[in-house]
Amino acid sequence: MLGHTVDETTYVTSMVPVPNVHQTPAEDFAVLRRDADRAVVVGRTLVGFLHTHPAGFLEPSDSDYLGLPDGLVGVVMCGTHLTGYTKEGPAQVEQVPPTV
Ligand SMILES: [Zn+2]
Repeated sequence: MLGHTVDETTYVTSMVPVPNVHQTPAEDFAVLRRDADRAVVVGRTLVGFLHTHPAGFLEPSDSDYLGLPDGLVGVVMCGTHLTGYTKEGPAQVEQVPPTV
């Protein structure tokens, strides 16, 4: 997820897919630093990672919390439900319509 942070709020302005290189990708995820670095475009900042839980678990796993780099936001997408988290714990996620 690319975007910017103002005060305590992180705004995600674009999403760039990166490969999940975890040994068991159906259960966990891992992203190579080089893939994350390649995803960043000029003028935007990596603010976090979104991944899916196709098996139906809404909450981030223990390894989701452990694997999230400091200062970034994690989002779990399960169906249409979004659950946000940071290293410190749960984080509120709100979808807003894009502005033109
Ligand atoms: Zn997860």
